Amino acid sequence: MTNNTLTIANWGNYPKTRAELIAPGRVEELRNLVSARDRLIARGNGKCYGDAALGPCIISSLHLNRILDFDAEKGIVRCEAGVLLADLLDVIVPAGWFFHVTPGIKNITVGGAVACDVHGKNHPAKGCFSNWLISFELMRADGGILTCSRSQHADLFWQTCGGMGWTGIILSASFQLMPLHSIYMRQLAVRAENFEELFAAFDKHKNLPYAAAWVDCLSDEPAPGRGVVYFADHAAPEHAETQLVYPKKKTRNVPFYAPSWLLNKWSIRAHNAMLFSRSRSGEQLADLDRYFYPLDSIRNWNRLYGRRGFIQYQFCLPEKHSFEGIRHILQTIRRSPDIPFLTVLKRHGDRPAEAVHSFPIRGYSLALDFPRTRGIFSLVRVLDELVWHESPNTFTK
Ligand SMILES: Cc1cc2nc3c(=O)[nH]c(=O)nc-3n(C[C@H](O)[C@H](O)[C@H](O)COP(=O)(O)OP(=O)(O)OC[C@H]3O[C@@H](n4cnc5c(N)ncnc54)[C@H](O)[C@@H]3O)c2cc1C
Repeated sequence: MTNNTLTIANWGNYPKTRAELIAPGRVEELRNLVSARDRLIARGNGKCYGDAALGPCIISSLHLNRILDFDAEKGIVRCEAGVLLADLLDVIVPAGWFFHVTPGIKNITVGGAVACDVHGKNHPAKGCFSNWLISFELMRADGGILTCSRSQHADLFWQTCGGMGWTGIILSASFQLMPLHSIYMRQLAVRAENFEELFAAFDKHKNLPYAAAWVDCLSDEPAPGRGVVYFADHAAPEHAETQLVYPKKKTRNVPFYAPSWLLNKWSIRAHNAMLFSRSRSGEQLADLDRYFYPLDSIRNWNRLYGRRGFIQYQFCLPEKHSFEGIRHILQTIRRSPDIPFLTVLKRHGDRPAEAVHSFPIRGYSLALDFPRTRGIFSLVRVLDELVWHESPNTFTK
């Protein structure tokens, strides 16, 4: 077991807190900690945003990292909560399996995937991580361990999926994988000159299971909300015996924090214009890493936002309000001095009634990464009001 007191933040590098970070290596050590402390919160690999995995005493799951069982016939994995999706890929891909649902990052833990009930680029087809979760073991505040599934402690099962660590510490989880025949994805890029074209593209290609769009938040008339939608499906195997080698790739690193002024309205405008002018519509093959985890190829890219860090603002609007609502929100952002460096639009399907804490609802979500400035929280309050106003009868205050 390791125990350090340090200044710690999640991926956005804001907020930061001084905390005791304890990483037990055995369940008994964890039980002793849980009995001895009043307040603690579990942490996986710290790749969430904001203050989710922060508190005065943080329990890291990273030393609880054993794959307990892998049924390569049925595609079922059982592993400890601290196992990274990246580590599982090395084992499951060569055996012909992949995740039904994966977020846009593989360096997260299975415990984090359950606690945030992560979604991917295929929510209409596959839902969230919980859709494929069979069961998990949860340590409660009294040190007792419960096995939770759809039939055992079902309430606790659904409260824990997306429950952000508030119901206890997930020790291990078991979930279903999907068959994989190739490490390649057939990707279709569709360049959209404005916001209308962006939505039309999502609609036109809704038969393709994966889709996510990069949006240029700063483009003005006549091309407001232009962007590129990246659709994909798994490619058919051409030479089955060579198709399931999951390559180890070199990553690049951002070695130090960029100055906080680097990302400003002018530099982001220039960056977006360059990205858009380089983009082309068309089909190509992309491997799993390139389609699902492009940002994992650059370690510490969060340092580009400088020491002040960044915040991610993400919302989902109901389908019938998505187009007008998101257009209105983008107009508001364009008029504000605070602008996001990265903006991603996704389409979502229905949420099971029991998945009370899952983020997506049928409609569209927009994720915006804003450098943290003095004014950003005023803009966030305005955006909150707009999201509220554009989602009639969807949420309760
Ligand atoms: C580049 C990038 C892309 C992303 N893309 C997506 C995406 O497409 N879709 C999506 O849904 N998310 C996405 N995310 C968010 C990320 O997938 C989630 O925040 C994920 O939960 C992080 O996992 P982690 O292991 O780092 O957990 P942490 O960040 O350490 O913790 C996240 C939450 O889970 C809780 N938790 C962690 N482990 C346990 C445990 N063992 N028991 C109980 N609670 C626990 C923590 O208390 C905290 O509330 C992205 C993040 C990044 C940085």
